[in-house]
Amino acid sequence: MADKIRVTFWHECRHEKTNPKVTEIYPGGIHAFICNFLNEEVDIEAKFVALDDPDQGLPDQVLNNTDVLIWWGHLAHGEVQDELVERVFRRVVNGGMGFLALHSAHHSKPFKRILGSTGNLTWGRNQREIIWNMNPAHPILAGIPDHFLIENEELYAEPFYIPQPDELLLCGWYEDGHVFRSGACYHKGAGKLVYLQPGHETCRSFHNPYVQRLIKNAVHYLKPNEFGYTVDEGCIHVTEPIVNEFNK
Ligand code: ZN
Repeated sequence: MADKIRVTFWHECRHEKTNPKVTEIYPGGIHAFICNFLNEEVDIEAKFVALDDPDQGLPDQVLNNTDVLIWWGHLAHGEVQDELVERVFRRVVNGGMGFLALHSAHHSKPFKRILGSTGNLTWGRNQREIIWNMNPAHPILAGIPDHFLIENEELYAEPFYIPQPDELLLCGWYEDGHVFRSGACYHKGAGKLVYLQPGHETCRSFHNPYVQRLIKNAVHYLKPNEFGYTVDEGCIHVTEPIVNEFNK
Protein backbone atom coordinates (compact mmCIF):
# COMPACT_ATOMS: atom_id res chain seq x y z
CA MET A 1 0.00 0.00 0.00
CA ALA A 2 1.19 3.51 -0.79
CA ASP A 3 2.27 5.82 2.04
CA LYS A 4 -0.83 7.97 1.69
CA ILE A 5 -4.36 6.57 1.84
CA ARG A 6 -5.56 6.64 -1.76
CA VAL A 7 -9.15 7.88 -1.69
CA THR A 8 -11.38 7.91 -4.77
CA PHE A 9 -14.58 9.92 -4.43
CA TRP A 10 -17.21 8.59 -6.86
CA HIS A 11 -19.87 11.17 -7.61
CA GLU A 12 -22.86 10.90 -9.93
CA CYS A 13 -22.59 14.69 -10.44
CA ARG A 14 -26.17 15.20 -11.61
CA HIS A 15 -27.62 17.69 -9.09
CA GLU A 16 -24.61 19.93 -9.73
CA LYS A 17 -25.62 20.16 -13.40
CA THR A 18 -29.28 21.01 -12.82
CA ASN A 19 -29.64 22.79 -9.46
CA PRO A 20 -27.58 25.98 -8.94
CA LYS A 21 -28.34 25.85 -5.19
CA VAL A 22 -26.04 22.84 -4.87
CA THR A 23 -23.01 24.58 -6.36
CA GLU A 24 -23.87 27.69 -4.35
CA ILE A 25 -23.53 25.62 -1.16
CA TYR A 26 -20.67 23.49 -2.49
CA PRO A 27 -18.63 25.48 -5.04
CA GLY A 28 -17.21 23.05 -7.58
CA GLY A 29 -19.64 20.38 -6.39
CA ILE A 30 -19.92 18.07 -3.39
CA HIS A 31 -17.05 15.94 -4.74
CA ALA A 32 -14.61 18.85 -4.97
CA PHE A 33 -15.67 20.20 -1.56
CA ILE A 34 -15.13 16.88 0.25
CA CYS A 35 -11.86 16.10 -1.55
CA ASN A 36 -10.57 19.55 -0.54
CA PHE A 37 -11.02 18.98 3.18
CA LEU A 38 -9.76 15.39 2.95
CA ASN A 39 -6.59 16.59 1.24
CA GLU A 40 -5.87 18.81 4.27
CA GLU A 41 -4.83 15.57 5.98
CA VAL A 42 -1.14 14.79 5.44
CA ASP A 43 -1.76 11.07 4.97
CA ILE A 44 -4.72 11.25 2.56
CA GLU A 45 -4.63 11.71 -1.20
CA ALA A 46 -8.20 12.18 -2.45
CA LYS A 47 -9.28 12.40 -6.09
CA PHE A 48 -12.74 12.46 -7.59
CA VAL A 49 -14.31 10.66 -10.54
CA ALA A 50 -17.81 10.93 -12.02
CA LEU A 51 -20.49 8.69 -13.47
CA ASP A 52 -20.13 10.30 -16.91
CA ASP A 53 -16.37 9.63 -17.06
CA PRO A 54 -15.09 6.72 -19.23
CA ASP A 55 -15.85 3.34 -17.60
CA GLN A 56 -18.23 5.27 -15.33
CA GLY A 57 -15.20 6.71 -13.54
CA LEU A 58 -13.79 3.43 -12.26
CA PRO A 59 -11.68 1.53 -14.78
CA ASP A 60 -9.61 -1.26 -13.18
CA GLN A 61 -6.49 0.90 -13.02
CA VAL A 62 -8.38 3.38 -10.81
CA LEU A 63 -10.37 0.90 -8.74
CA ASN A 64 -7.41 -1.39 -8.10
CA ASN A 65 -5.36 1.56 -6.88
CA THR A 66 -8.02 2.81 -4.49
CA ASP A 67 -7.74 2.13 -0.75
CA VAL A 68 -11.03 3.79 0.20
CA LEU A 69 -13.92 4.42 -2.21
CA ILE A 70 -16.41 7.12 -1.18
CA TRP A 71 -19.80 7.02 -2.92
CA TRP A 72 -22.35 9.83 -3.36
CA GLY A 73 -25.30 9.14 -5.68
CA HIS A 74 -29.01 9.87 -5.76
CA LEU A 75 -30.71 10.40 -9.14
CA ALA A 76 -28.76 7.95 -11.24
CA HIS A 77 -28.35 4.78 -9.15
CA GLY A 78 -29.97 2.77 -11.97
CA GLU A 79 -27.40 3.94 -14.53
CA VAL A 80 -24.49 2.30 -12.71
CA GLN A 81 -23.58 -0.82 -14.64
CA ASP A 82 -23.94 -4.16 -12.86
CA GLU A 83 -20.48 -5.15 -14.10
CA LEU A 84 -18.99 -2.18 -12.22
CA VAL A 85 -20.99 -3.05 -9.10
CA GLU A 86 -19.48 -6.55 -9.15
CA ARG A 87 -15.95 -5.17 -9.53
CA VAL A 88 -16.53 -2.83 -6.56
CA PHE A 89 -17.98 -5.69 -4.50
CA ARG A 90 -14.99 -7.97 -5.20
CA ARG A 91 -12.50 -5.17 -4.54
CA VAL A 92 -14.06 -4.77 -1.06
CA VAL A 93 -14.57 -8.39 -0.01
CA ASN A 94 -11.45 -9.83 -1.69
CA GLY A 95 -9.15 -6.82 -1.98
CA GLY A 96 -9.89 -5.20 1.37
CA MET A 97 -10.85 -1.81 -0.08
CA GLY A 98 -12.91 0.34 2.28
CA PHE A 99 -16.31 1.62 1.11
CA LEU A 100 -17.79 4.80 2.58
CA ALA A 101 -21.44 5.36 1.62
CA LEU A 102 -22.65 8.93 2.17
CA HIS A 103 -26.30 9.94 2.59
CA SER A 104 -28.40 8.79 -0.42
CA ALA A 105 -25.81 6.13 -1.27
CA HIS A 106 -28.04 3.98 0.97
CA HIS A 107 -29.85 3.15 -2.30
CA SER A 108 -26.76 2.77 -4.47
CA LYS A 109 -26.16 -0.57 -6.14
CA PRO A 110 -22.74 -1.17 -4.51
CA PHE A 111 -24.16 -0.48 -1.01
CA LYS A 112 -27.02 -2.93 -1.58
CA ARG A 113 -24.71 -5.54 -3.14
CA ILE A 114 -22.15 -5.38 -0.32
CA LEU A 115 -24.77 -5.49 2.44
CA GLY A 116 -27.22 -7.83 0.70
CA SER A 117 -30.16 -5.62 1.61
CA THR A 118 -32.55 -3.12 0.01
CA GLY A 119 -31.35 -0.07 1.94
CA ASN A 120 -34.96 1.15 2.04
CA LEU A 121 -35.86 3.76 4.64
CA THR A 122 -38.51 6.31 5.58
CA TRP A 123 -37.93 9.92 4.55
CA GLY A 124 -39.52 13.33 4.88
CA ARG A 125 -39.10 17.09 5.04
CA ASN A 126 -35.85 18.83 5.91
CA GLN A 127 -35.55 19.73 9.59
CA ARG A 128 -33.21 19.98 12.58
CA GLU A 129 -31.36 16.84 13.60
CA ILE A 130 -29.40 16.01 16.72
CA ILE A 131 -26.78 13.35 16.06
CA TRP A 132 -25.92 11.22 19.10
CA ASN A 133 -22.59 9.47 19.59
CA MET A 134 -23.45 5.79 20.22
CA ASN A 135 -19.91 4.42 20.40
CA PRO A 136 -17.45 6.91 22.00
CA ALA A 137 -14.51 4.46 22.01
CA HIS A 138 -14.75 3.78 18.27
CA PRO A 139 -11.97 5.33 16.14
CA ILE A 140 -14.54 6.95 13.83
CA LEU A 141 -15.99 8.82 16.84
CA ALA A 142 -12.65 10.34 17.86
CA GLY A 143 -13.15 14.06 18.55
CA ILE A 144 -16.95 13.79 18.31
CA PRO A 145 -18.92 15.04 21.37
CA ASP A 146 -21.80 13.10 22.93
CA HIS A 147 -24.13 14.92 20.54
CA PHE A 148 -24.11 17.70 18.00
CA LEU A 149 -26.77 19.66 16.08
CA ILE A 150 -27.31 19.85 12.33
CA GLU A 151 -29.57 22.86 11.65
CA ASN A 152 -31.14 21.51 8.46
CA GLU A 153 -31.01 18.00 7.06
CA GLU A 154 -33.33 15.74 5.09
CA LEU A 155 -35.32 13.38 7.33
CA TYR A 156 -34.07 9.81 7.05
CA ALA A 157 -35.95 7.61 9.53
CA GLU A 158 -36.38 4.06 10.78
CA PRO A 159 -37.16 1.45 9.80
CA PHE A 160 -33.94 1.35 7.79
CA TYR A 161 -33.60 -1.97 5.98
CA ILE A 162 -29.97 -2.80 6.61
CA PRO A 163 -28.46 -5.81 8.35
CA GLN A 164 -27.79 -5.30 12.07
CA PRO A 165 -24.60 -3.19 12.09
CA ASP A 166 -21.44 -4.84 13.35
CA GLU A 167 -20.78 -1.53 15.05
CA LEU A 168 -23.46 1.13 15.52
CA LEU A 169 -21.83 4.55 15.48
CA LEU A 170 -24.49 7.26 15.45
CA CYS A 171 -28.19 7.78 16.10
CA GLY A 172 -30.01 10.73 14.54
CA TRP A 173 -32.99 12.31 16.37
CA TYR A 174 -35.20 14.70 14.41
CA GLU A 175 -37.49 17.48 15.61
CA ASP A 176 -40.52 15.55 14.26
CA GLY A 177 -39.62 12.71 16.67
CA HIS A 178 -38.15 10.20 14.23
CA VAL A 179 -34.87 8.39 14.87
CA PHE A 180 -32.35 6.87 12.47
CA ARG A 181 -29.17 4.80 12.58
CA SER A 182 -27.07 7.63 11.14
CA GLY A 183 -23.74 5.84 11.29
CA ALA A 184 -22.98 2.14 10.98
CA CYS A 185 -19.97 -0.05 10.31
CA TYR A 186 -19.72 -3.52 8.74
CA HIS A 187 -16.91 -6.01 8.19
CA LYS A 188 -17.30 -7.75 4.83
CA GLY A 189 -14.71 -10.36 3.94
CA ALA A 190 -11.33 -8.61 3.73
CA GLY A 191 -12.89 -5.15 3.70
CA LYS A 192 -15.14 -2.81 5.62
CA LEU A 193 -18.14 -0.61 4.85
CA VAL A 194 -19.20 2.51 6.72
CA TYR A 195 -22.47 4.40 6.23
CA LEU A 196 -22.87 8.05 7.28
CA GLN A 197 -26.30 9.69 6.86
CA PRO A 198 -25.71 13.50 6.76
CA GLY A 199 -25.22 15.07 3.33
CA HIS A 200 -28.37 16.04 1.42
CA GLU A 201 -27.32 18.05 -1.64
CA THR A 202 -29.17 21.26 -0.68
CA CYS A 203 -28.14 21.20 3.01
CA ARG A 204 -24.87 22.49 4.45
CA SER A 205 -24.05 19.35 6.43
CA PHE A 206 -20.65 18.78 4.82
CA HIS A 207 -19.62 22.22 6.13
CA ASN A 208 -20.19 20.98 9.70
CA PRO A 209 -16.78 20.41 11.34
CA TYR A 210 -18.00 17.27 13.13
CA VAL A 211 -19.31 15.77 9.89
CA GLN A 212 -15.97 16.53 8.29
CA ARG A 213 -14.18 14.87 11.21
CA LEU A 214 -16.41 11.79 10.89
CA ILE A 215 -15.54 11.46 7.19
CA LYS A 216 -11.81 11.91 7.84
CA ASN A 217 -11.91 9.37 10.70
CA ALA A 218 -13.87 6.93 8.54
CA VAL A 219 -11.26 7.12 5.77
CA HIS A 220 -8.52 6.28 8.27
CA TYR A 221 -10.59 3.44 9.73
CA LEU A 222 -11.49 2.00 6.32
CA LYS A 223 -7.99 1.82 4.88
CA PRO A 224 -7.08 -1.79 4.06
CA ASN A 225 -4.85 -3.85 6.31
CA GLU A 226 -1.44 -4.77 4.95
CA PHE A 227 -2.30 -8.34 4.11
CA GLY A 228 0.44 -10.93 4.55
CA TYR A 229 -1.23 -13.08 1.93
CA THR A 230 -3.13 -12.66 -1.31
CA VAL A 231 -6.89 -12.56 -1.10
CA ASP A 232 -8.12 -13.80 -4.45
CA GLU A 233 -11.12 -15.27 -6.18
CA GLY A 234 -12.28 -18.66 -4.97
CA CYS A 235 -11.01 -20.72 -2.05
CA ILE A 236 -7.54 -21.97 -1.25
CA HIS A 237 -7.07 -25.75 -1.65
CA VAL A 238 -5.01 -27.06 1.26
CA THR A 239 -2.64 -29.80 0.15
CA GLU A 240 -0.60 -30.28 3.31
CA PRO A 241 -1.60 -30.32 6.97
CA ILE A 242 -0.64 -27.08 8.66
CA VAL A 243 0.76 -29.03 11.64
CA ASN A 244 3.73 -29.98 9.42
CA GLU A 245 5.02 -26.49 10.25
CA PHE A 246 5.70 -27.75 13.82
CA ASN A 247 7.74 -30.74 12.65
CA LYS A 248 10.32 -28.85 10.63
ZN1 ZN B 1 -31.00 13.63 0.08
